[in-house]
Amino acid sequence: MNSTSHALPHATAGAAYHLTSHAFGTGDFRRKVYIQAGLHADETPGMMVALTLLEQLRGLEAAAKLRSEIVLVCNANPLGLSQWLFGAPVGRFDFASGRNYNRDFPMLAGKIAAVLEGKLTQDANENLVVIRQAWKAALTALQPATLFDGLQRQLMLLAHDADVVLDLHCSREAAMHIYTGQAIWAKAEPLARYLGAVASLLAYDSGASSFDEAQSLTWWQLQQQFGAYYPIPTGTVSVTVEHRGQRDVSYDMAQRDAQAIIDYLTHQGFIDGIAPPLPELAGPATPLAGSEQFLAPASGILVHRAQLGDVIEVGQPLFDVIDTTSGVTTTVHSKTCGVFYMRRDVRYVKHGDPLGRVTGATSQRTGKLLGA
Ligand SMILES: [Zn+2]
Repeated sequence: MNSTSHALPHATAGAAYHLTSHAFGTGDFRRKVYIQAGLHADETPGMMVALTLLEQLRGLEAAAKLRSEIVLVCNANPLGLSQWLFGAPVGRFDFASGRNYNRDFPMLAGKIAAVLEGKLTQDANENLVVIRQAWKAALTALQPATLFDGLQRQLMLLAHDADVVLDLHCSREAAMHIYTGQAIWAKAEPLARYLGAVASLLAYDSGASSFDEAQSLTWWQLQQQFGAYYPIPTGTVSVTVEHRGQRDVSYDMAQRDAQAIIDYLTHQGFIDGIAPPLPELAGPATPLAGSEQFLAPASGILVHRAQLGDVIEVGQPLFDVIDTTSGVTTTVHSKTCGVFYMRRDVRYVKHGDPLGRVTGATSQRTGKLLGA
């Protein structure tokens, strides 16, 4: 294992921030896997999984079982981990700018395309190399203006040339679910099976420019532009994994999820061995645009009427909001048939607050599909 400390630019006077990456199986491998956790810095379940992987990968490397380079970042956001408010860690948004750490990553398909003129051939493998070189050059040329931009650029530099990118997160209160690209679903599906994901939410472009989309969507965009003339491979299969809710931290769950990732990488040939038989999908893949989002119809005490992972029928009551002055209860019913995969962790809400989501088989929403 080679560990590298990457200094992040533009820290304020007297402060310093470093990102640490661990590379396993470095050598003559042609393929690469990149795994990070904690981009939203207060989401510790994913970090627990990454730390479990750290130990497992040490063992696999010592046993000469790796068939690819695997780069692991257990704490992808040292900036967010330094943010505290009234005694609690707050790692989803940058205090300085209000920006969500997993939004608006640099989308560089345009800059990559601009330098591909005359370089693409009828050989998909050659095109893969040429595109990755152009991508690295475009990332290197970025001039980050802030700590936030410098962190995003460094994470992209570590991940952009990987064949598989896994970004480990969690939700507020949730069952295991994943987000990934519609175009790469066939290659991500075994991961959903091993993880036991009750929901796999697919989009070509969610409009969020999240970390996973900054990888796989770039390939899809290049395929749209050049695919009629040249073979453009799908260079990266990238997935955001939501390891349940923020409080779902245990050794058992971390061990289970880390093993699921090892099984997936074994199944895909990145690790030597025979993967366990693929389990059934725990829930069908559905369009991200089909998920129904529920908003509080009033201010009051939030009482959940459904359990995470439940299959919900149309008309089923999901939430009660109780007015704390009058005692009047307003009930929110589902208009969708699907899986109840995430909900809020607070028990008092104000009018218009998001309450939770149920998957839906039919696309309903347009525009930006992910909230703040
Ligand atoms: Zn997150």
